[in-house]
Amino acid sequence: MTTILATPPRSGSSITTRKLSKTFNDVTVLQPTDLEIAAGEILVLLGPSGCGKTTLLRLIAGLEQPDQRDMIRFDGEDVGDVPIEKRNVGMVFQSYALFPNMTVAENVAYGLKIRKMPAAERAAETRRLLALVGLEELGNRRIAAISGGQRQRTALARALAIKPRVLLLDEPLAALDAVLRERLRVEIGSLLREFGTTAIYVTHDQAEAMAIGDRIAVMQQGRIAQIDVAQTIYHRPANEFVADFVGTMNRLKGKVLDGILVLEGIGTGARLAVGGVDRETTICFRPEAVRIASSAGDISARVIASTFFGATQRLVVEVAEGTSLQLDLPSSLSFRPGEIVSFDLDPQSVIEFHLKA
Ligand code: ATP
Repeated sequence: MTTILATPPRSGSSITTRKLSKTFNDVTVLQPTDLEIAAGEILVLLGPSGCGKTTLLRLIAGLEQPDQRDMIRFDGEDVGDVPIEKRNVGMVFQSYALFPNMTVAENVAYGLKIRKMPAAERAAETRRLLALVGLEELGNRRIAAISGGQRQRTALARALAIKPRVLLLDEPLAALDAVLRERLRVEIGSLLREFGTTAIYVTHDQAEAMAIGDRIAVMQQGRIAQIDVAQTIYHRPANEFVADFVGTMNRLKGKVLDGILVLEGIGTGARLAVGGVDRETTICFRPEAVRIASSAGDISARVIASTFFGATQRLVVEVAEGTSLQLDLPSSLSFRPGEIVSFDLDPQSVIEFHLKA
């Protein structure tokens, strides 16, 4: 994609919500939510189906009225009573919502025409936008005659054309195949940054969230469970839901005696120094947090299976009956199913959720 920049927006707006909530038929689908999104930031709303992502987006757009009013501000200005067409919000959906009888260029130019931009200026701006999304050759094509990825870029160019203060994207890549999704998510992320608009991007795909978001808000049953940069969400998830939703998390249940977590199991089971008082507990750690031990390590386990992923392999091992772990190790190591192996665990990566509560 070319990097020619169409005229950027005046600048993206900061967005503030205070106690923003939504109830449908006595069911609160969005709990009172406080958000601070910086001007030009890309915030991803990540969460499973039905957790309230789209509702939050629609409230910010003005497509839905919140339970309580005057709780949404753009650049400090209350937009609670400002109708959607005056909020200067751009929207891109999974379904594209393009005008099928118009050409690609006519779709992109539509908002400019409505705003009565003179024809020559409009044509020049449309050309710049088409170049921005890599569609300069396809301006005269009908929507029916372009691919899904090209439609999605057309939708993005059309949304950017009006120079929105805020751009809202709701699962814009969901209808595309895996290869195209992966390519477009990188492109969309850099395009949004280059354009400088503030963006809220809804997805249930964690890889997409990590690739696009400056920060990620993980939503759980109508509330934001954690909002932070990807690295913190991954390494220091706020609760078990976040831990499971973003990446793979291993769990070991056992008893802590004299500061050592003890799990009877295959071989020597698990013996980990975790400190603190005697208790029953569950510790969590990511697959990459282990190293093969040269002698008796923290955990011994039986190899079940290994899957090759280029430089690394994902090993499934059983520590005790019914307790399996997934471990990422260099592919240069070879493991036979049934073999007993011994691992050390990086103590920094161990998370014990109930202690944090
Ligand atoms: P998905 O990923 O499936 O799109 P989501 O996280 O975007 O899900 P929302 O669309 O915000 O979820 O919906 C949150 C909850 O609110 C759901 O239980 C949904 O059924 C409910 N809901 C949404 N819109 C309405 C409505 N207009 N009337 C009644 N209930 C609604």
